[in-house]
This record gives sequence, structure tokens and C-alpha cells, in this order.
Amino acid sequence: MKSPNTALLDDLVPGDVRERLFRRIAGRTDELVALTQDLIRIPTVNPPGDAYTTCAEFIGDRLAGRGFQVTYRRAEGSPGDSDRYPRTNVIARIEGARPGPCVHFNSHIDVVATGRGWTVDPFAGKVRDGKVYGRGACDMKGGLAASMIAIESILEEGVDFPGALEISGTVDEETGGFGGVGFLAKEGFFSRPRVDHVIIPEPLNVDRVCIGHRGVWWAEVETHGRTAHGSMPFLGNCAVRHMGAVLERIENQLIPHLNTKRTTMPVVPEGARQSTININSVHGGLGEDHEGMPSPMVPDSCRMVIDRRYLIEENESDVRREVVEILEALEGERPDFTYDLREVLAFPPTMTDSQGPVVRAVSAEIERVLGRPATQVVSPGTYDQKHIVRVGHLDDCIAYGPGILDLAHQPDEYVIIEDMVNSAKVMAAATLNLLAGGAR
Ligand SMILES: [Zn+2]
Repeated sequence: MKSPNTALLDDLVPGDVRERLFRRIAGRTDELVALTQDLIRIPTVNPPGDAYTTCAEFIGDRLAGRGFQVTYRRAEGSPGDSDRYPRTNVIARIEGARPGPCVHFNSHIDVVATGRGWTVDPFAGKVRDGKVYGRGACDMKGGLAASMIAIESILEEGVDFPGALEISGTVDEETGGFGGVGFLAKEGFFSRPRVDHVIIPEPLNVDRVCIGHRGVWWAEVETHGRTAHGSMPFLGNCAVRHMGAVLERIENQLIPHLNTKRTTMPVVPEGARQSTININSVHGGLGEDHEGMPSPMVPDSCRMVIDRRYLIEENESDVRREVVEILEALEGERPDFTYDLREVLAFPPTMTDSQGPVVRAVSAEIERVLGRPATQVVSPGTYDQKHIVRVGHLDDCIAYGPGILDLAHQPDEYVIIEDMVNSAKVMAAATLNLLAGGAR
């Protein structure tokens, strides 16, 4: 699928430069693997946010040694930040030969807990059958390593380029990104004129360009009751039964309704091309940590967290109203039904222009490197693009990285070495194209 735009981009990187660059990247495969292993061996598990400073300094030291200007920013006071678990971010920048645009690669350095089911050491970085294994291999230290090798290769090759290159390693993406990209965006690190194009090497598969994500709305619903002796529940008011009524409406009314809402966003997997709701948790009555015999009490409180993902065709007030309508209806129907609704988190859907510079540049290189057209996708869940678009007001942002989406957060997570090499080639050539294209 060659568009006139692709043809235009063809001209910006001379063929011999691209060839030399690709040869150099392929020649550095062992180094790419070693870098990925080194990153995996720093166990940046979040929560609580372990070893962030160690990992940030590892990245910063390496890039400082290659001429980058390195800045560290701790997000003091952000959720989870403490002297024991400082939220340390690193940003490295190198200027080109003359003024021009800036291409920024942003990776989160945090990984989720290992969980059960591993057959290899999750923090050893074991290599087997052309894959690197470990927590974060796929999501997203393999992508971070690929972007570092891509940019380092441009510098080593001595390619003359205008503008600037940036690489950042940021924290807390897995817990909302408030101490990472959210914090840096507020400080101006993700806005023009400092930055023009952002690529986030999240694991969306080596041949796919992720142009955005669905919206998210998290809320906690609490139903209230009145406690009494469990042998005389009619003297009390059971908060858990009230929550049962809420759940019944979600099951029989809201979910069937959500199933009818389809989107034009190219969300993957296919099942997420509609509105969804997850019941994250329900807690009521006796605490889960109690031991021994339960005491005979009527529960006076029940809390439920709901995780609603919505489409670009919907808006947040409609999403909220659907839940409020259920609660208000029950208030009218059930004696003694009272509730609170607390909104925990909300981000609207985001989708960048599918003909924007970064989408076109990366798509064209995917086709060149892999010999097949790129697919444009939208992520079912949010990632740090939300802060870049909402806080930094920078729209020319995508996710593109070598990991396989389905492996993220799984036991025995891995990244395929060949995919890392190919994605590094795509990143390097797309970067040169974007820089050569000037500020758009
Ligand atoms: Zn990720």
C-alpha cells in the first residue's frame, strides 16, 4: 500500500545510508541482547517501585558515555514516592548538526510483579531459541533496548542529522504513569518546541503501529447498610444484598447494552472493539483477613470497584450516567438503599491522525524492513500516550515496539531477538525520516 506520502518519505533517507544503518544494527545484535538482559536483571517491580534509580542511572550512564546530555527528575510527592522508593526518571538528549525537529523515544522502566507459573528465573534474562526471557522482556525492556541501539547506531554511523534525539526511561506506567510521563509532561518535557514526535516502544507487535487507546473510567460504588445480629437480619440493613441488586442490573441491563456499542477504532484484540466493564473487586462484611470463626454480623458497607473501558464514540458523562441511572433507579425501588459513588480515575480515548508524520514514517519503514504493510491498531487499555496528548498537548505520538502484545504481564514473558533487531531498524530509519522532514 504505497501512498504518495510514502513515496515522499522514500526520498528523505538516501538508500546507502539506510543500508549502512541496517547493517550496523544487525551487527550489534549481541549487544542488543546483552542490553536487554542487563535491563531485565534490574528488578524494577511496581508496586512498590523497586530499583528505579538503579535502572535510570544505568540508562543515563550508558547514554552520557555516548555524548547525551542526561537529566534525572524525581517525581517527589507523586503516588508511591518515598526515599525508599524514589520515582526517578531519566531523560537523555543529543543535538544534531543544525536546528530541526526532535524525535523522542519513551519507555517505561517499571515491570509488574512476577506472579506464579514461571519456568525460568524472571530476573536472569535467559536466552533460549532466539528469545530473551524475563519479566519486562516484552513489556517493555526489549523495546527500550531496541530504541537505544537504534539511536546509538545513527550516532555511530556518523549520519548527519538536523534537530535532536531524545530517549527517556520513565516510571510507574503500570500504575497510571503519574510519577513518570504524567509528571514530566507537566514539566514541559513532552511539549513543543522541545519535542515534535514521540514513539513509545510498548509491545504491540513488530508490524503494528498503535495510534491510540480506548478511554477508561474507574469508580468505586459503596452501598450502605446498618449492622445488627446475624440471627435477626431484619433488624439491620444488609449492604451486601444492596450491592447484589447493583450487580444484577450490571449483569442484565448494562452489560447487554455495552455489548451493542461497537467502535470504528481498530482496537486489538477484536473482542475489545466494543464497550466493556470489569468488576475489579467487591468487598463487604467481614474482612478478608479475618481468621477463625466469623462473627454473626449484618454488613453495613459493601464496596465495589468497576473498570469501564469506553470508545471514541462515547463520552465520559454518558459512561458515568449509565451507572448513576442504575443506582438512582434502585434508590427509588429498594427500601433503605443508599450509596456513594467515587470516581477513581478517568482518561478519555485518544487516537492520533492516521496520516500524521510519525504514523507514516514508521509504517513506511515497517513495510521496507519486514516486506509487508504495517497494520494500524488501537490499544484496549491506556498507556503513557494519554499524558503526552492530554498534558503535553503533543498529538504526533504512537506506540511501536517489538514485543508480542499477548505476552505482556504473563509468566515466561519473552521477546524475540529478530523482532528487536527489525524494530530497531524501523525506529532508526523512521527517526531519520522524521528529522529530515523538518518541523511539521
Ligand atoms: Zn508497558
